[in-house]
Amino acid sequence: MEPSPPPPSAAATAAPPPPPSESASSSRSKPAEEQEGGGVAVGVEEMTLIVKWSGGKEYTVRVLGDDSVAELKRRICEATGVLPKRQKLLYPKLSSRLGDDSLLLSDLALKPHIKMTMIGTVEDEIFVDRVDSPEVVDDFEIGQDEIVDIKDKDVNIQKLRRRINQYKIKLLNPCREGKKLLVLDIDYTLFDHRSPAENPLELMRPYLHEFLTAVYAEYDIIIWSATSMRWVELKMGQLGVLGNPNYKITALLDHLAMITVQSDSRGTFDCKPLGLIWAQFPEFYTSKNTIMFDDLKRNFVMNPQNGLTIRPFRKAHLNRSSDQELVKLTQYLLAIADLSDISALDHKSWEFYTEDISKRRRHS
Ligand SMILES: [Mg+2]
Repeated sequence: MEPSPPPPSAAATAAPPPPPSESASSSRSKPAEEQEGGGVAVGVEEMTLIVKWSGGKEYTVRVLGDDSVAELKRRICEATGVLPKRQKLLYPKLSSRLGDDSLLLSDLALKPHIKMTMIGTVEDEIFVDRVDSPEVVDDFEIGQDEIVDIKDKDVNIQKLRRRINQYKIKLLNPCREGKKLLVLDIDYTLFDHRSPAENPLELMRPYLHEFLTAVYAEYDIIIWSATSMRWVELKMGQLGVLGNPNYKITALLDHLAMITVQSDSRGTFDCKPLGLIWAQFPEFYTSKNTIMFDDLKRNFVMNPQNGLTIRPFRKAHLNRSSDQELVKLTQYLLAIADLSDISALDHKSWEFYTEDISKRRRHS
């Protein structure tokens, strides 16, 4: 099932074949600037593509050679509102390869200013869309060495820099001086998005409002979900998180703020780089005063010291009466709120930390 070769005129930059040890996917080859020695994005060219969508409307999209197909789809989503997973990209002889999100655009040998066609529908019926989306439960482990490698890689630092320029965070409420920052995922962290329910409140993680009310005393709160802004606003509105009288949400971020990174063992995946927030509000938020909760550890890969992997809240109807995760995490967040550098903690051991504190309290 090898796709047809690219047009002969565009064969100038023949990449060397991937090393034989790379077993993951034969179609995944390394970007040119990834050679050891770490030159900063040498030879990464900007490409302008025209995307034709529904009824012949045309959109101009700018990408770089070291961007993946996933990133191209994200740019198209920005222009058209069609979610990446809903897009099918068509171009003569390349359509099957454009279906592989992990492929780098430089490997497709596209000519400048080519016009491709996108077929896709804007998410109209949000709940239908949610239910038929594939479930991501596989929180694969990435080795410690590899995490260091990913966060320090020039190509990823460049991607983050570009994202900082492209994605402007809209503040719902002002940042507060002297507060730390808590960044929260939604799906399986605050909400069981997979179980059926007549009312979304049935799927809300227990103690959500109590948790947000208590931690708001010490933390500004940002919600960051790997879904669309429309869904984030809808969901947070339905749960009563927006416009709540007891706490205020500083900002909402969606999938367009994420970046795609490559790991040798796991191929490409998306993550949530906190550097995007730190760059836009450096006088308030830093790597030292930020903590992020997510049920998927890989989302922290660009800032592993700031991530706390929360137990996923699934099967709401079964677990609603017993889930205490947010109660315990409230204690942890308040216990560490006075530290000047919370990234020096090992958030993996958060439960021991709170146990220790309550023991010390009992003994004093
Ligand atoms: Mg999640």
